[in-house]
Amino acid sequence: MAQFLAAKANAPDAILFFRMGDFYELFFRDAEIAAAALGITLTKRGKHQGEDIPMAGVPVHALEGYLARLIRQGFKAAICEQMEDPAEARKRGSKAVVRRDIVRVVTPGTLTEDSLLDARGANRLAAVAVRKGRAAVAVVELSAGVVDVVACALEDLGATLASFRPSEVLVPDRLFSDEATKDALNGSGGVVQALPQALGEPVGARSRVERLYGVSSLDGFGTFEEAEVSALGLVAAYLETTQAGKIPALAPPRRSGDTGFLAIDPATRLSLEIDRTQRGEREGSLLASIDRTVTSGGARALAERIARPLRDPAAINDGLDAVEWLLERRDLRRDLREGLKASSDVARAVGRLVLGRGGPRDLAGIRNGLAIAEGIAGLFPPVRDPSMEPLAGPPLRIAACLDKLALTPELGHLLAALAEGLVQEPPHLARDGGFVNAGFRPELDEARQLRDDSRRVVADLEARAVQQSGVPFKVRHNAVLGYFLETTAKAAEPLMRPTGESPFIHRQTLANQVRFTTVELSELDAKISQAGHRALAIEGETFETWRRTVQSLAQPLQAVAEALAELDAHAALSEWAEEVGAVRPHVDDSLCFEVSAGRHPVVEAAVKAAGDPYTPNDCRLDGAGQGCARLSIVTGPNMAGKSTFLRQNALLVVLAQAGAFVPARSMRLGVVDRLFSRVGAGDDLARGRSTFMMEMVETAAILTQATGRSFVVLDEIGRGTATYDGLAIAWATAEALHDRNQARTLFATHYHELAGLETRLAHVCNLSMRAKEWNGELVFLHEAAPGAADRSYGVQVAKLAGVPSAVVSRAREVLDRLEGEKTSNTSLNDLPLFAMAEPPPPPPSSAVDDALKGIDPDELTPREALEALYRLKGLA
Ligand code: ADP
Repeated sequence: MAQFLAAKANAPDAILFFRMGDFYELFFRDAEIAAAALGITLTKRGKHQGEDIPMAGVPVHALEGYLARLIRQGFKAAICEQMEDPAEARKRGSKAVVRRDIVRVVTPGTLTEDSLLDARGANRLAAVAVRKGRAAVAVVELSAGVVDVVACALEDLGATLASFRPSEVLVPDRLFSDEATKDALNGSGGVVQALPQALGEPVGARSRVERLYGVSSLDGFGTFEEAEVSALGLVAAYLETTQAGKIPALAPPRRSGDTGFLAIDPATRLSLEIDRTQRGEREGSLLASIDRTVTSGGARALAERIARPLRDPAAINDGLDAVEWLLERRDLRRDLREGLKASSDVARAVGRLVLGRGGPRDLAGIRNGLAIAEGIAGLFPPVRDPSMEPLAGPPLRIAACLDKLALTPELGHLLAALAEGLVQEPPHLARDGGFVNAGFRPELDEARQLRDDSRRVVADLEARAVQQSGVPFKVRHNAVLGYFLETTAKAAEPLMRPTGESPFIHRQTLANQVRFTTVELSELDAKISQAGHRALAIEGETFETWRRTVQSLAQPLQAVAEALAELDAHAALSEWAEEVGAVRPHVDDSLCFEVSAGRHPVVEAAVKAAGDPYTPNDCRLDGAGQGCARLSIVTGPNMAGKSTFLRQNALLVVLAQAGAFVPARSMRLGVVDRLFSRVGAGDDLARGRSTFMMEMVETAAILTQATGRSFVVLDEIGRGTATYDGLAIAWATAEALHDRNQARTLFATHYHELAGLETRLAHVCNLSMRAKEWNGELVFLHEAAPGAADRSYGVQVAKLAGVPSAVVSRAREVLDRLEGEKTSNTSLNDLPLFAMAEPPPPPPSSAVDDALKGIDPDELTPREALEALYRLKGLA
C-alpha cells in the first residue's frame, strides 16, 4: 500500500493501474471511478486507516480496451509496472516487495497504440502560449515523431489550433481562465489541460526543449519567437512526465509563419463540413467525399492537406503540378497505388518501437514498407536536371518524395537484416519469442535444437514409462510443475504403495488425477526450460538490437513513410479528379475569383446517387471590384440551392489552395488569406448562447478579421431576431464587408430588401437562385442567375413539404392580402433603411488609449503595474 500511495502521489490526476502479476489493480477513488466508467466489479481488499479499501482490477491482456474507453471518456490513466522479476525481489529477502514504477501516463494526445487510434487521422498533442501579444501553437504527433510550431496573431489562434485537430491541448493556467482564448480552445475539439504557468516561462521552457532534443541550443533549428519557445516548452514538460523519461525521437520543430496557411476558424470548418460533418462524422464531409487514398498514412497526409490549405501561390502550384503529372500518367498511377496498397503503417510502427511499445509485427511493417519504397521508387522515370530541356522528369514535390524513398545504406542494411532474420508473419509481442528465422543466429538454432531434441526424448519417455509401469501415463506440462507424468487416481493406485525401488516419484494428487515425475524426466525438463529460456533471451536480444537500429534510424524511416504518404495523397487527388472530371485551378496573387460551371463535391455526389442531375453554376467576384462585383447578394426561395451555391464556392477555395483539382469547367483564384463561412446558427445551448447571440459573436469575428484578401460566405445572417432588427443588421454587415473589409463575399439572404444595395454600392451585384411555377407546382432550377429573386415562394415550399392543403390555401389567402397592403401603403423605398446615413467615422483615440497601447502586462513588475494604473487614472 505504501508503494501504491507513493506511485499515486506522482500521478495524482490520473487513474492509476497498478500491476499485480496478471492484473492491473485500481484502489480507492480510482477503483470507484473505473468501476463506474468501465462497468467492472468494485470489491474490497484489506484496510487502510481502519477503512475498507475499494478495489477493482482488469486482466493485463485486456488493458488496451479499457484504456481506450477511459481515454474516450476524458480520463487520464497512469500505468505502474513491475520493474523486476518476483524472483529478483525474493533474492533481496523473503519480505521484499517487487519494485514498481509508473512507466507512462496515457492521455488522449499521447496515444500510439493502433487499436486506440483512428488510422486515417493523425493523433496530435498541442500546446498554446501567448507572449507579448503574439500567440503560438506547438503540435506534436508522437507516433510520427513530427513537431510543428506556428506563431500567429492572437485573433488567428482559433483557426491555427483548429487546423491541427488536436486531441489534447495544453495551456498555461492563466490562459485557461482567459475569456479571450476560451473560444479558440473550445473550438479545437481537443481535451484542454491546464498546466502550471511556470512551465511556459521562456528560460525554463527553452532548456526543457533543449533537453528533449538533446541539444545545447535551439539556434540550430532556427529562430523562434518567445511564444513559440513557450509552447514547445509546455509540450516538452508534458512529454517528460507522461512518457516517464522515455524520450521520443522527434524531428526538429517545423516552423511555419502565419503567412503559410489559409486561416479557417473552427466555426467555418464546421459550417463547411471540411473534415467532419456538423454531427461530427467523417462520412459526408468534403474530406471523405474526395478521399481516394489507399494507405492510412496517405489518408492522414490528405487530411492534413485539406485541413491546412496553403497561401503561397508558388507552393500551391507545386502541389497542383504533382497532381497533374500523376493524372496524365494513368499506368504509373495504377502501379503506384497497387504498390502502396500492400504497404503497412511505417510511421506508427517506428513511433511505437522508439517509445518501447512496439513488437515484432512493427518490425515486419517496417521491412515491408522499406521493400515497397524500393519498388515504388523504381516505377518512376529518373529525376531530370531542371536545367535540361525539355523538362520531362517528375515535378518538384514528386522528385522530393523520390529523394526520400532512395534508401540510405543504413536503411538498406536494416531491410536486409529484417528480410533475413524476421519470420514472415511475426507475433504481436516479443515476449514469447518465435519471430527470429532459423539460420539467422547459430546460438539460437542450437538452443532451439536442444529444446526440440529434448522434447522428442520426453515424447519417447511416455511410451517407455507406460511399458515399464503398466500404468496409462500421459506426459503433460504446466508452468508450475514443468513436465510430469499424469494418470487417473485409480490407475495410479499401485504406484502409491511402492514396493521396493520405484522410479516414479509422486508430485501431486488432484481430485481425479495423480502426477509423477522421474529423475530422467526432471533432468529433461530442466534442460528444456534452460534451452527455452536461452532461446527466448537470444530472441529478446535480437529484437532489442533491431529496435535500437530503428530508433537510431527513426528520422530517415519517418522520411520514407512521409514520402509514401505524400505520393498516396497526390495520386489519390489525381484519381478523384479523373473520376469526377475536376480541373486544375489557376492560382495567382490577384484578387479575383472566377468559377465557371462549378459543382459542390459532396452535394453533387448525393444528388447524383439519388438519380438527379446536378446543375453547375458560375460565380465571379473580384476584390478590386474590376470587371465584376466584390460582393454578391444571393436571394431565392428556400430549397432553391442558396446554401449549396455559397458553400460550393468556399469549398473550391479550400480545394484549390490545398493543391487539389476543382470540380468545375475552369477556375481562376487570387489566393485567399482567411476564409469565413457563417450560417444563421442553431442554438448552442451547451454554451448558453442563443442562436442570435451566436450569430452576432461570429459576425463580429468576421467584421474584425476579414481583409481585402479574404473570402466570406454568409448565409441568412440576422434571421434570428425580429424582422426589422435582422434586416438592419444584415444590411449594415453587408455594407461594412463591402466598404471596410473589402473581402470577396457571397451573402445569401431572404431579406429581398437587400437587393437594393446593388444600386447604392459600387461593387455589389445581385444573384438569385431560379425557381419557376409550372402547372401550379414549384420547380427549382438550382441555377444562379443575375438579378434579385422576385418572391420567396414560401407557401409553395410549405406545400411541397406536405403541410395540409387547407393550411396552405389559407396561407395563400393571407399572403395575397398582405402583399396587397404592402403595395398600397408602404413601398420598400419608404423604409428608413434607405435613408441611412454613411457610417460615422471611428472615434479618435484618446490619451488613455495611446498609453494603454504602450503597456505590455507580461513585462511589468507588480510595482510598475500599479504605477501604470495611477498614470492611466490621471489621464482619464
Ligand atoms: P437553400 O439554402 O436555398 O434553402 P439548399 O442549398 O439547402 O437550398 O439546397 C436544397 C437542396 O437542393 C439540396 O439539398 C440539394 O439536394 C438541391 N440542390 C442544391 N443545389 C443544387 C444544384 N446546383 N443542382 C442540383 N441540386 C441542387
